[in-house]
Amino acid sequence: MYAFTHDTAPGRVVLGAGTAADLPREVERLGGTRVLVIATPGRADQADAATACLGAARVGLLAKAKMHVPIETAIEGRKEARRLNADCLVTVGGGSAIGLGKGVTIDLGVPLLCMVTTYSGSEMTDACGMLDGGRKVMHQSPHMRPKTVIYDPELTLGLPPSISGPSGMNAMAHCVSAICSVNPTPMKSLIALEGIRAMADALPRIAKDPSDINARGDALYGAWNCGIAAGLGARGIHHKLAHVLGGSFDLDHAETHTIMLPYSTAYNATAVPDAMTTIAKALGRSDNDAPGALFDLARSIGAFAALKDIGMPESGLDQAAAEMMENQYANAAPYDQPRIRALLENAFTGLRP
Ligand code: NAD
Repeated sequence: MYAFTHDTAPGRVVLGAGTAADLPREVERLGGTRVLVIATPGRADQADAATACLGAARVGLLAKAKMHVPIETAIEGRKEARRLNADCLVTVGGGSAIGLGKGVTIDLGVPLLCMVTTYSGSEMTDACGMLDGGRKVMHQSPHMRPKTVIYDPELTLGLPPSISGPSGMNAMAHCVSAICSVNPTPMKSLIALEGIRAMADALPRIAKDPSDINARGDALYGAWNCGIAAGLGARGIHHKLAHVLGGSFDLDHAETHTIMLPYSTAYNATAVPDAMTTIAKALGRSDNDAPGALFDLARSIGAFAALKDIGMPESGLDQAAAEMMENQYANAAPYDQPRIRALLENAFTGLRP
């Protein structure tokens, strides 16, 4: 007999090549008349071009989003949105732009529309980590769940393979965590498996040919599934690792996820053996070596394999293991500091799990 709590809010998703042109209609649908556009500095030109169709309804462009959403940036964004009397926020970019949009609207409650240009899946969740006093602090609010998401693969053609791959692996991590979670639900597991399958299929094709619009569209479809899985709630030890390493050591979010995913999966292997078989199958394997399959996928798309390659200091491993024991995210296998320290050591050198 089934027994679970399934908590999700519907969101409007518009997916397809050329759908960026639907922006004015979608903003109008949300009642937006004064739009503040949000992007990272690197995406300012793209954000400007993609939202020019809003005409006079676009009242500002805030190209100050940063990874991990420093709280000061969110406060500045709130001030700017108030100053402009914005009644709709449109992000153009990946998880960093979306995170700033969430950091603004958690306070203002104005609708958030996301034009997605990476595969992080952040656009489907009502949560956001923000960097506050050197630590990444999680926030959750129904206001932060985007009301509309536009997935136009044409907006992602410029995303280099070095960012595309880790971004997709970051999304996939939500699915792996969902399947390994302490509270899987049938729908969560189904969506998570579809997210893994779609992403594992698309990422090697993008690595081979970044201009493959079909692969880009398939990756956005995967990101949508992965994002729903994330929004259904399943952080586990994997996300705790990513938040400690990203928050305290300023490591790139997506690359950290990519490196840590095989190890965090291996950590849970004996606690959730069925999950290993299911995940390996979604990755096209006939064995139960889900950690090995994730490791191989990351290698096949040319991602970094070791924490030492993305700026983690070896001297920080003890601190990271200690921080892992604070404010634990529910996980199938219990938190054990020596075991986590060993996991971090292996990830530091990139040893196959
Ligand atoms: P990102 O948004 O930081 O983008 C990475 C880089 O790629 C940036 O420099 C950006 O300017 C550039 N870029 C983005 N789109 C591009 C394009 N189409 N062409 C060329 N360059 C492009 O990276 P991300 O991995 O999408 O997001 C990471 C952030 O998202 C982190 O802060 C993380 O915490 C957050 N996140 C949140 C959730 C959630 O559910 N709340 C989920 C996943 C990630």
